[in-house]
Amino acid sequence: MSSFDYDLFVIGARVAVAEDRFYGGTCVNIGCVPKKLFVYASHFADEFHDATGFGWQVGDARFDWKRLVANKNSEIERLNGVYERLLKNAGAEIVDGRATVVDGHTVDVAGRRITAAHILVATGGRPFLPQIPGREHAAISDDMFYLDRLPERVVVVGGGYIAVEFAGIFNGLGSQVIQLYRGPHFLRGFDEDLRHFLCDEMRKKGIDIRFNATVARIEKRGGEYLAELENGTEIATDLILYATGRVPNTEGLGLAQAGVRLAENGAIQVDGQFRTSVPSIHAIGDVIDRVQLTPVALAEGMWLARHLFGEAPAPFDYDDIPSAVFSQPTLGTVGLTEAQARSCYAEVDVYVSEFRALKHTLSGSEERTLMKLVVDRTSDRVLGAHMAGPDAGEIVQGLAIAIKMGATKAQFDATIGIHPTAAEEFVTMREPVIRGGDEAAG
Ligand SMILES: Cc1cc2nc3c(=O)[nH]c(=O)nc-3n(C[C@H](O)[C@H](O)[C@H](O)COP(=O)(O)OP(=O)(O)OC[C@H]3O[C@@H](n4cnc5c(N)ncnc54)[C@H](O)[C@@H]3O)c2cc1C
Repeated sequence: MSSFDYDLFVIGARVAVAEDRFYGGTCVNIGCVPKKLFVYASHFADEFHDATGFGWQVGDARFDWKRLVANKNSEIERLNGVYERLLKNAGAEIVDGRATVVDGHTVDVAGRRITAAHILVATGGRPFLPQIPGREHAAISDDMFYLDRLPERVVVVGGGYIAVEFAGIFNGLGSQVIQLYRGPHFLRGFDEDLRHFLCDEMRKKGIDIRFNATVARIEKRGGEYLAELENGTEIATDLILYATGRVPNTEGLGLAQAGVRLAENGAIQVDGQFRTSVPSIHAIGDVIDRVQLTPVALAEGMWLARHLFGEAPAPFDYDDIPSAVFSQPTLGTVGLTEAQARSCYAEVDVYVSEFRALKHTLSGSEERTLMKLVVDRTSDRVLGAHMAGPDAGEIVQGLAIAIKMGATKAQFDATIGIHPTAAEEFVTMREPVIRGGDEAAG
């Protein structure tokens, strides 16, 4: 018989018991879900434009930011209720309030001490803002979901997917957008061809993207903000969004005192079984800073539940995790980039198809689509699939199954396409643009 109150105490959202802010966590409240709703909203500008080529005459289209936010808020409130009910129906006790860890088996929530055989920390992350003069004038992604009005001019600082997505959202909704990134090119870690292709497409849509551009200070002057760059350029704007990365939410949680080892950036260090340096405390999700994606946090949680209370699962597998960037156009990606493949395999074939989608033959839009396959020449295995274009996330999700199963290029070729779609290109690319042996021979 256990002498503890509970078998497991979870701090955090998704499978959470203690929650201090909102049911459903970042993804539902200030992340994936409201962001995607905003992306949908911003696409209508292109749709209205495209409609003309198909014979439609669209009247004077107007956009109402307040209505979008209000409708989004009701949907999120509905989801909060769903998550709360899920927890309650699953029999979990919800302890509202901020939790801190007292020791390996004790948690404090607003003065109430609760003991458990295991503690799970899933406190997620929060936006990181660099220490620059005037940082108090910068907004973070959380704020974007509750702005009073749509800003006419926006400066987005950052080069990760959140920065790229918000640049596209504001541009689509009609704001003038400047995106600043301190490095030579945004979306580090994504396939090079995709990064360059997306940058061209975003510029075509009117976003002013500037690389090697660092903000030195921000000032508020009258009703506007002034971003002063290190090279002396000054940019006047109505909103400065800093999307410059996220840090794990471990401050003030009592972890260090409880003996839980943290990495330099505050991430909880865990082993292959999500166990911290205190064996009864586990951690998953953004707070361990491995792969900061909702489905990964969910999978880690399910793996741990099975590991602690069910049958021993196979080791957690981080290979071939598909993901999307809801930029405009969308990116979808799974498996190795060309550069990663080259560092692991001797001979890599690369297949690329770039085209104007059928829809745009009539819409008049200049938007193009890019698809790319990376193949190990020796085994014929498809190592990576990458796409920039409409519905890339939907398309790559399906391909991810094939890639996870180890599909070969010959099996891709043997698959009949669905015509006419953009996706059929993935099974009709016959000639590599780069053939594995060639560069070795050359
Ligand atoms: C703008 C944005 C867009 C994103 N878009 C996507 C996307 O399109 N696709 C995708 O897969 N991922 C996306 N993400 C990432 C995704 O939201 C995270 O990977 C995911 O939410 C991580 O889940 P988690 O459970 O680790 O943490 P979280 O979802 O952050 O949950 C942690 C919870 O713990 C609570 N908490 C923290 N400290 C305490 C405490 N001491 N006591 C009690 N409760 C506490 C917090 O309030 C929060 O509810 C996005 C993130 C952002 C910010």
